[in-house]
Amino acid sequence: MAVNVLFAARPDRWETYAAPLRDAFARAGVDAHLATDMPPAEVDYIVYAPNSPLQVFTPYTRAKAVLNLWAGVEDIIGNPTLAIPLARMVDPGLTRGMVEWVTGHVMRHHLGMDADITRSDTEWEPHTPPLAYERKVTILGLGALGRAAAETLVSLGFDVTGWSRTEKTLPGITCLSGEGGLDKALETAEILVLLLPNTADTENLLNAKRIGMLPRGAFIINPGRGALIDDEALLSALDEGHIAHATLDVFRTEPLPAEHRYWSHPRVTVTPHIAAETRANTASEAIAENIRRGEAGETFLHLADPSRGY
Ligand code: NAP
Repeated sequence: MAVNVLFAARPDRWETYAAPLRDAFARAGVDAHLATDMPPAEVDYIVYAPNSPLQVFTPYTRAKAVLNLWAGVEDIIGNPTLAIPLARMVDPGLTRGMVEWVTGHVMRHHLGMDADITRSDTEWEPHTPPLAYERKVTILGLGALGRAAAETLVSLGFDVTGWSRTEKTLPGITCLSGEGGLDKALETAEILVLLLPNTADTENLLNAKRIGMLPRGAFIINPGRGALIDDEALLSALDEGHIAHATLDVFRTEPLPAEHRYWSHPRVTVTPHIAAETRANTASEAIAENIRRGEAGETFLHLADPSRGY
């Protein structure tokens, strides 16, 4: 018998996802009825975006899992009506997008590209950047995205340190964890990349004290979540020159309000939450695989843990 899969996202997403999901279900051998509307008590799986109108899960009495279309789950994981497993999105397409965005912005700062791109005079002033192996990059968060970005930076020769909640051993990466590990990870970070989730433990993680621990002239790149950074502390450190530049993709309020100082600050680059988008084709494969697993009685992949908040 077909499983009933409810697509609960913003209406404009349906056109993007309907065909890729149906194709992926067929390839995975999942017999599914996919629709944007069906009686809640008949739904088996919910493909979900946290900005969907669906916010109360109680009527979905038969549903086996919520399959999130986003990597970040902070807007759903604390939902008190959610009593079934929640899988976050781990999508190879999204991961590649993040790796490319991070690598591009690391290379910009590493090579000092701005000096040439923004040159307004005719001064012939050669500047030789260090080689990648002379550049220390720290990535906070070694999950699906942080780890992939770290691996690519290592493959380019960078001296990469990563920090996570639990201990890890990853080839070519100096892996640190815990409070002591964080201090060490910050003290050496010439370029700092934030790829942590937004949780109670990570909010304002990059506060004035920790920004002060970064080497003078460090670069901060944040494609994680806006709430990871104490914005006032960052602006002070930028004004004072302790931080050379911040490249920010995510913000506490999105879209970033027009009057926010980040827009006009000469040492800030704003990108409009475009670091990595879920890609319909590859994400549909991930969703189909989780439904296949659910129907085969196997454990779901990439389950979020409400007790950790991610
Ligand atoms: P993930 O696989 O869940 O990885 C999260 C990483 O953060 C893990 O290494 C985890 O440690 C670490 N972590 C979590 N809480 C921590 C804490 N309190 N202290 C130290 N480390 C902690 O997530 P992901 O798929 O890599 O995604 C990361 C984030 O990127 C998402 O949550 C989302 O906010 C953001 N994102 C942004 C965009 C964009 O376009 N800008 C797109 C997608 C995702 P353990 O390994 O020990 O669990």
